[in-house]
Amino acid sequence: MSTPEAGGWAPATSVDEVLGLFRRFGADRYDEEVSQLDHALQCAALARRDGAPDELVAAALLHDVGHLLHLRDGGRGPVDEDLAHEDVGARWLSALFGPAVTGPIELHVEAKRYLCAVEPGLTDALSAGSRASLVRQGGPLDQVGVAAFEARAGSPEAVALRRWDDAGKVVGLHVVPLDAYEAMLFDLAAR
Ligand code: FE
Ligand code: FE
Repeated sequence: MSTPEAGGWAPATSVDEVLGLFRRFGADRYDEEVSQLDHALQCAALARRDGAPDELVAAALLHDVGHLLHLRDGGRGPVDEDLAHEDVGARWLSALFGPAVTGPIELHVEAKRYLCAVEPGLTDALSAGSRASLVRQGGPLDQVGVAAFEARAGSPEAVALRRWDDAGKVVGLHVVPLDAYEAMLFDLAAR
């Protein structure tokens, strides 16, 4: 079932539902090498390592939940079209978490387009999958887009998330498990 408020997705009803999505679909491939769960856990671990606040650690952990919703609803990943997974995920989570969590998630694709515009050479350093999706996502931002992005609330957090996103694709990296974030997520959802 879906609601217009969620843009076609019934909003998340509990942290358990969020965690259940990762437990059920986390083994699915994220990119060329790592699984969805590996990628999520690596991004969250990098955010923790860099001293990010809990809201941003949660954003790092959950930023690609839109892909898992797509899988839950029968889609097969990775996909060839741009499914606006950043919007889908942010909207789905907004019933549980505030904008400090959902904002960077919503902006993480735009942050990639931003970084590829302001850091020449970054596009070449992206993983093959990320380079391919950049094209579907509209490519690097133009000058107007860059200025508009910088003016948006939460753009620095989205840029930080995007850097962890690029780095969180290491095969075989040992990081703390999903359980380690449960209490934090329940706490954030209760605020
Ligand atoms: Fe993403
Ligand atoms: Fe990602």
